[in-house]
Amino acid sequence: MTAHYAIIGSGPSGMYAADALLEGVPGCHVDVFDRLPVPFGLIRYGVAPDHYKTKNTARQFARTLDLPTVRFFGNVEVGRDISLDELKTFYDGVVLAIGAYNDRPLGIPGEDLPGVYGACAFVGWYNGHPDYRDLAPLLDKDAVAVVGVGNVALDVCRVLAKTVAEMDESDIAAHALDAIQQAPLKRLHMFGRRGPIEAGFTPKELGELRELERAVAIIDPAQLPDQVDGEFEGREKGVKEKNLSIFKELAAHKAGIKPISLKIEFYAAPKEIFGKDRVEGIRMERTRVENGRAIATGETFDVACGAVVKAIGYFSKAPYGVPMNGGTIANVAGHVEDNLWVVGWSKRGPSGTIPTNGPESRDVMRKMIAEHDNGGKPGGEAADLLLRTRGVRVVDYPDYKKIVAAEVARATGGHPQEKFTRIDEMLAVLG
Ligand code: NAP
Repeated sequence: MTAHYAIIGSGPSGMYAADALLEGVPGCHVDVFDRLPVPFGLIRYGVAPDHYKTKNTARQFARTLDLPTVRFFGNVEVGRDISLDELKTFYDGVVLAIGAYNDRPLGIPGEDLPGVYGACAFVGWYNGHPDYRDLAPLLDKDAVAVVGVGNVALDVCRVLAKTVAEMDESDIAAHALDAIQQAPLKRLHMFGRRGPIEAGFTPKELGELRELERAVAIIDPAQLPDQVDGEFEGREKGVKEKNLSIFKELAAHKAGIKPISLKIEFYAAPKEIFGKDRVEGIRMERTRVENGRAIATGETFDVACGAVVKAIGYFSKAPYGVPMNGGTIANVAGHVEDNLWVVGWSKRGPSGTIPTNGPESRDVMRKMIAEHDNGGKPGGEAADLLLRTRGVRVVDYPDYKKIVAAEVARATGGHPQEKFTRIDEMLAVLG
């Protein structure tokens, strides 16, 4: 009997899971559900638009969605159009690959002021995600503060700092490119609550700050140690050493030699965001690091800015009544309950690069196959019938190809594609 599996979420972890199922259960059918009409989640909407080559990973996943035994159920929101229980009835195994699509809160006064944005929203905005099409971030002042020193903070600062020419080969949304170019930006501040050795940057991404046309990245040399001390696992020490050597290059830069200064400041934790009706500045507290933890010193300083972006990590929200464990779905080695499994950021939290998900999804799928490879459930036919009865406009993979072709056709300059940023625009392509 043919086994039928459903995956909820078409981002990297979901697509790696699909590949693992096709490999592990020859002849099985895999249906991939996504609430948006377009697949690939984080690849389309999370990866920075100027890292367009990274988005090529989607080609591998596109080949998967093109297989006759795989079906894309786009524009179908589980919990609204079809319930999780219905999927569990129709499929031999159901996989949650819903990512961590919510911004962690800072929990400080002023966080709700207009002008404060989570990275999820801000990155979604410049990547043309329909949820954030109308974010219209306040970029009318000369400074923006970014909290966090991970790769997402780097992405946000780099995209804000780049010129139109530097973004020419990117797929940044036109509304964001226009807004950023019109912004009178002079200062970008990136704050890390711990030190340079604890920063989450990877050297390649950090190194890109050296090459910005209109922005100079600067660091106070007094914040840098001579060398990387301490014990690190595997490749970690090498990464820290490369980062330190790049930090030292940045510390030799002179502020003011380019129109925008991008200052990376360590040992600074956000204490309050202030302003009357909107963000006017951020109050930071000096820290010192003890046993890897940031300890507040009581000394504060204020930085004037018109917007604050929190790039401090993400969490998953409880979907469809599934039990949670903090910001992730409660699971034991990927198993949630009955025939329900979880992979990716919704399983382990928001860490790692796209390929990190490959081995992990394969591992969880191996376990799932061992328990649910016998088949017997109706799969996509039943789901399709139900969705039709409910009048849901399912977007399948050939439909998606038409949407992308229209996005490529309307791109201008060197942009590879001009994404539609509203769902009805995408559906309009399909007539
Ligand atoms: P991240 O690397 O975990 O960085 C989060 C940053 O936020 C850290 O500096 C963290 O400081 C800080 N933070 C957390 N809570 C805070 C608080 N309350 N106050 C002040 N600072 C706070 O996460 P990310 O940048 O969101 O990236 C997520 C994952 O995606 C990472 O694995 C990243 O490498 C990956 N990614 C990769 C790429 C790429 O390869 N090009 C691009 C983007 C993202 P502490 O360290 O002190 O907690």
